[in-house]
Amino acid sequence: MPPWLCLPPTLAAARRATPSSFFRRSCLCSSSSNSGSFSASPSGRQQEEGDEEQSLVVVGGGAAGVYASIRAKSLAPRLNVVVIEKGKFLSKVKISGGGRCNVTNGHHIEPMGLARNYPRGNKELRGSFFSAHGPQDTMRWFTDHGVELKTEDDGRVFPVTDNSASVVDCLLNEARRLGVSLQAGKSVSSVSVTEHGKFILKVEKRTIDLVDYMNPNYVLVATGSSQQGYAIAAQLGHSIISPVPSLFTFKIADKRLADLSGVTFPIVKAKMKLDGIQKIIPELTQTGPMLVTHWGLSGPVVLRLSAWGARELHRCNYQGKLMVDFIPDIRIDDVKRILFQHKDQHTKHKVNNTFPTEFGLVKRFWRFLLEQEGLDGDMHWASMSNNHINAIALRLKQWIFEVVGKGQFKDEFVTAGGVPVSEISLGTMESKKQPKLFFAGEVLNVDGVTGGFNFQNAWTGGYIAGTSIGMMASTSNLEKQSCLQLEGS
Ligand SMILES: Cc1cc2nc3c(=O)[nH]c(=O)nc-3n(C[C@H](O)[C@H](O)[C@H](O)COP(=O)(O)OP(=O)(O)OC[C@H]3O[C@@H](n4cnc5c(N)ncnc54)[C@H](O)[C@@H]3O)c2cc1C
Repeated sequence: MPPWLCLPPTLAAARRATPSSFFRRSCLCSSSSNSGSFSASPSGRQQEEGDEEQSLVVVGGGAAGVYASIRAKSLAPRLNVVVIEKGKFLSKVKISGGGRCNVTNGHHIEPMGLARNYPRGNKELRGSFFSAHGPQDTMRWFTDHGVELKTEDDGRVFPVTDNSASVVDCLLNEARRLGVSLQAGKSVSSVSVTEHGKFILKVEKRTIDLVDYMNPNYVLVATGSSQQGYAIAAQLGHSIISPVPSLFTFKIADKRLADLSGVTFPIVKAKMKLDGIQKIIPELTQTGPMLVTHWGLSGPVVLRLSAWGARELHRCNYQGKLMVDFIPDIRIDDVKRILFQHKDQHTKHKVNNTFPTEFGLVKRFWRFLLEQEGLDGDMHWASMSNNHINAIALRLKQWIFEVVGKGQFKDEFVTAGGVPVSEISLGTMESKKQPKLFFAGEVLNVDGVTGGFNFQNAWTGGYIAGTSIGMMASTSNLEKQSCLQLEGS
């Protein structure tokens, strides 16, 4: 018999259970001792003796936690489901995607291709993970629950309202409709396990110095990148891969770059070379759009580099060199040939005013480039020496920027690190260290590049965990019922 099917000691008591019996206020600080509390010890013993209903506590009311709670409760309506959230429910969903919430990505449907968007997790997530609940399932779920979605040209999926509140309201209304208990403003400060395999959660409400203990059968840790979540995982025997930031912009030493602030390049090829790191990492070369900000470089290509190099960049204190090819589709020999041709055809024109259109560059950038080469913009093309032309070609193909730090990317930010995926079963999201303990979302060592991949990890993990818990709970209830029938016959 699987461990979760073990029957509680007193079957008769099961009939007398109250839905909230697993949540006992067991200890009040002296300041609030007049509030008529239970005096149960936090050992969980009282619960084991009188335990009847199956119960789940989800720690963390973010995308993964709320989605999981809905799935578990819809599969096992008799399961008591409580979500404890220390702040506000779905606060990151609310602010995500610049307030629009990039729910998922509609261009990467097939699991193998989808997994390639996860710098941490790409190998592990290639298997059954996204087949269980992928972007199409996510989109269907939201559409079925009244949130109309649209897919933008780059694959990012948003609610048609362009307002994350549509997603937040949908999830919270559905959870409430099903009878999930959503408890905000409380934080789970520790989790332990009794010798009978039940959990003891210490729940604190700091505003009124209140401490509660809960004794659920199942726990889902969906705490995102919170330190408390990592501490809980560690208490329960898990190791933690040290968290470091991912998805950030690059701070560039050259202050003159600020003159180009706001200029975008539809396609560049950028290669990151990190100080003291010899290892060749293929993903540290990326092709895509780039944006100049007032103090550095940003845009999809830079964000992807920051994600793939998150650990190495952290190790070398965000110092390195970024080599940018501004015209990746044209080989250097052709760049030179085009420049020489241009010179022949425009001998009497000022270099400032005309340049080859084949390069697809904006005038501001061209002028900046001439300045960097120390060229007078008023000179004529006829005066452009071979050396100048070679130097310009080289700069266009291999401009080296000095990265001196990391900036912030205000639309999205995630943490690399957390509970190693190898310590959980991806088919169920259950811990390999502790039965009936589950993990989902960013608390795991999984993070994606920008484009809706981070939420997709949360939805998929939450869905799988919710399914496993819901199924375990309903199987257990069925088992109990048949035992009660046997007892009564
Ligand atoms: C500004 C911003 C914008 C983003 N935009 C996007 C986007 O558009 N698309 C995308 O795919 N990704 C986006 N992301 C990333 C995405 O938000 C996260 O990857 C995702 O929210 C992870 O979901 P989660 O449920 O695992 O964790 P979270 O959403 O972080 O939720 C965890 C919750 O647990 C709570 N908690 C933690 N510890 C405890 C405790 N001990 N007790 C009780 N509660 C606790 C926290 O308060 C939090 O609410 C964005 C991130 C940021 C910061």
